[in-house]
Amino acid sequence: MKLRLSLILLLFVASVGVLVWLYDGKAFIPPRREKSSWSEIIADLEACGHRKHLKALQYDRFAQIAAAEKRSDAEHLFRAMAFSEHLQEQNCILAIRRLGGTYAAPRPGAIFGGPTDGNLERSIAEERRSYNERRDAEIRRAMSRGNRYAARLLVWAAAADLRKIFLMECRNGVGARTFAVCPLCGNLYAAEFTDRFCPFCLTDGAEFVRFE
Ligand SMILES: [Zn+2]
Repeated sequence: MKLRLSLILLLFVASVGVLVWLYDGKAFIPPRREKSSWSEIIADLEACGHRKHLKALQYDRFAQIAAAEKRSDAEHLFRAMAFSEHLQEQNCILAIRRLGGTYAAPRPGAIFGGPTDGNLERSIAEERRSYNERRDAEIRRAMSRGNRYAARLLVWAAAADLRKIFLMECRNGVGARTFAVCPLCGNLYAAEFTDRFCPFCLTDGAEFVRFE
């Protein structure tokens, strides 16, 4: 009887020892970082986020200049564009995290600051150059990989880029002085031409953020 008790006790102590050894062993192994299977898509979302981040900073600066020049039409447009860029960067960040990646904001680049008319011309040229460089390659990549979530965000980003070019180009012809931005997808409108619902994400037009 005594021998059996001793044996059980010995087995118990040995089991505890093995468990402690296994636990300690695991604690010393660094957690293995699995490479996300979406790494290519995450890189596209990161590039988009960086682009949006830098443009938001630039457009904020251009809005300050326009305000100082009392160019309220350009000021409202630049503020709306900066808001849209910032919002779309946040959408990219959320998507990157959901797909298993991490995001760090880019280093701030050079911020330009000439007179408003030149700033508008510069912005149109830069938006066109950037869009023509990509030609929606990242959207096609996301679709070909079956990632409709990322594709949708990248479509929103590209659509807003085209809207910015349009609004900057026709700022005088249309005469828009107030602008609205969809708070979910970042789509932009001249406020007098807003849809009842955002055609991209179906957000109610009453929720659009106005810049006036
Ligand atoms: Zn929307």
